[in-house]
Amino acid sequence: MTAPAAAVVVVGGGFGGLATAWALAERGLRVRVLDRSAPPPEGPAHRAAWTWRRPTVPQNTQSHVLTSLGVRLLRERLPRVYEAVLAAGARPLDLTAAVPATARGFVRQPSDDDLVALAVRRPVLELALYRAVRALPGVEVSHGATVRALELDPAGRRVRAVVTGAGERIEAPVVVDASGRRALSAGWLAAAGVPVAPDATCPNAFRAISRLYRLADPARLPAPLNRGNAAGGIFDHFAAVVHLADNGLFALNFAVLPDDPATDALLTPAGFAAAARITPQVAAWVDERVAAPVS
Ligand SMILES: Cc1cc2nc3c(=O)[nH]c(=O)nc-3n(C[C@H](O)[C@H](O)[C@H](O)COP(=O)(O)OP(=O)(O)OC[C@H]3O[C@@H](n4cnc5c(N)ncnc54)[C@H](O)[C@@H]3O)c2cc1C
Repeated sequence: MTAPAAAVVVVGGGFGGLATAWALAERGLRVRVLDRSAPPPEGPAHRAAWTWRRPTVPQNTQSHVLTSLGVRLLRERLPRVYEAVLAAGARPLDLTAAVPATARGFVRQPSDDDLVALAVRRPVLELALYRAVRALPGVEVSHGATVRALELDPAGRRVRAVVTGAGERIEAPVVVDASGRRALSAGWLAAAGVPVAPDATCPNAFRAISRLYRLADPARLPAPLNRGNAAGGIFDHFAAVVHLADNGLFALNFAVLPDDPATDALLTPAGFAAAARITPQVAAWVDERVAAPVS
């Protein structure tokens, strides 16, 4: 006997696809998530995050921080995931600790309890979400499944199935495109003869280069988080920012212009370290007495 078809097929199992699957399953719908990547490693999230290779999500290794709206949603809607990331070493950051000196007379309000960001490596958070969603009754997550096309009804009005690169046809009364920034469904619809308005996109025109460090003493920050959830600044032709992460880790991230040859040296460990040592607001973080690079 074959399992009944899912009510919704979600293409892509990143944050967007997983959150969609969770929200639909919570309302009692059967959901199948198809992702073209290999499954993540098992084991404690803070360790598995080191070995989770995600060529289909290149920003996976870049520094991320979950801002206060995301933290609030997590606490309210997915408290188990929030608890899991805290247990995995994530660190809540009270954003009111960085109220600028110009905000004279600041008095903390009860609603400021929501002004909390979460310092955690992206794969640690994503693994916690992935495992919570995968465990839900009614959710099936399939890996190595690359969706290549949609099959529509003869009138071209309703979707009937998705077709994978391996030629498998998967029945799908509803399809959610969570394939990431390329939003592949526009091409699939166009190929199926459905007129689609072009997406409005604009390159952000910077190149991000990150490196992870581990603090010798996670309880002592080398310098204040002058930007609330981060330390750093924006300079003439680049930005540098330290994002705290889980388990005494932090990411130092340079954002540079893609066509600036002066910043190519950041791609070497020595060049990256040299730039960090002379950059205000981040130099204190890379002093070898307080932190060592781990990536
Ligand atoms: C440098 C950088 C820094 C960032 N920092 C932050 C931050 O600090 N905080 C923050 O909140 N956000 C940050 N973001 C944004 C964040 O990374 C994205 O918003 C997030 O990854 C989007 O999630 P998604 O699920 O839509 O897409 P993705 O995470 O890209 O996931 C898409 C999934 O779809 C799968 N897929 C793709 N095509 C197919 C297909 N044909 N068939 C099946 N599966 C497919 C992929 O394998 C992947 O798993 C940052 C982004 C960048 C680039």
